[in-house]
Amino acid sequence: MQKKRLGKTDLMVSIIGFGGIKLPQVSPDDADEILNLAIDKGINFVDTAKGYGDSEEKIGRALSGRRGEVYIATKTMSNTRDEAWADLEDSLRKLQTDYIDLYQFHNLRMEPQYEQCMGADGFMAAMEQAREQGLVRHIGFSSHRYHETMKQAILSGRFETAMLAYNILNDEMVDDEVLPLAAEHDIGVIIMKPLAGGALAQPPADIGEQTGFVITAADGLRFVLANEYVTLAIPGMQRREEVIENVRTAETFDALTEQRKQELVQAAEALGQDFCRMCWYCMPCEQGIKVPVILRHLGYAKRFPGLLEWARGRYGMVEVKADECDECGQCEEKCPYELSVREMLAEAHEMLTT
Ligand code: SF4
Ligand code: SF4
Repeated sequence: MQKKRLGKTDLMVSIIGFGGIKLPQVSPDDADEILNLAIDKGINFVDTAKGYGDSEEKIGRALSGRRGEVYIATKTMSNTRDEAWADLEDSLRKLQTDYIDLYQFHNLRMEPQYEQCMGADGFMAAMEQAREQGLVRHIGFSSHRYHETMKQAILSGRFETAMLAYNILNDEMVDDEVLPLAAEHDIGVIIMKPLAGGALAQPPADIGEQTGFVITAADGLRFVLANEYVTLAIPGMQRREEVIENVRTAETFDALTEQRKQELVQAAEALGQDFCRMCWYCMPCEQGIKVPVILRHLGYAKRFPGLLEWARGRYGMVEVKADECDECGQCEEKCPYELSVREMLAEAHEMLTT
């Protein structure tokens, strides 16, 4: 598979990396199988996070005998020196390794958080010390949607990579300003959520013919990889077939035709920005509501009119319905896309209750 230089880290990474966010949904044996398959097929970059359930443990177990063949990236949201250091030690233990190739500040947002991150008692101070000691090789940040702090982080000269959410529904500020700025400063650009967390993917195959416009996983990856400023994309993977298909797309990579690109952009624009990317950051909910599951059914029902009855059936099987929400708002505080989750849940309940 084609490799590219990850900015100033000088790591040569495959243009598709393995996103580990979905690993909590598979068994350890299945995780072993798909991670090893990915490495066998030429993927040499695996990304995870302390916040992704048992993803780090599964990666550690699967790849402990192949450490030299893969770059491991992980991240933490902890933003004090001591907490970030403790998380790093935890990640090293779970990943069964002596060093992390890329340690990232997870979900960079607004100014106060950035100031803390870069201050004497923040994340960066801990990671620069860890880098001196060889525990961490490179330092990066991830960010889910545009904030001025993305540009500040790039201009600081202290980060080597930027992990951004970028896909057909791209944010103009990221497209027009952040990506070129990253290139200018030799920042390696890693793209997460090339399919908007699955929201752009086609619905399950077993539900028959649909009338909506289908955007395939290959379309999503091609769109992202065609961007000259992007180093690699890291779609989340949990099935053998996904690994095989993503690798095939990368190996036979050709940019989308302009016509197909316009079709995709139009289809994606119909979704707007207010849809759930199924990142699960808003969980847990004290009422036991599985927000991403309900919002996925809502998304299918709205995007594919022919799926309304199917989505209603699925919603009928959901154990805790959206009307159990007590409006505490905690999920909205945690949602990196700043969605009006409470309103969306109410909409889902009304639309999907038969
Ligand atoms: S607002 Fe509703 S869905 Fe969100 S965390 Fe509170 S109870 Fe759960
Ligand atoms: S509501 Fe927001 S935080 Fe929760 S899964 Fe969807 S996008 Fe992620």
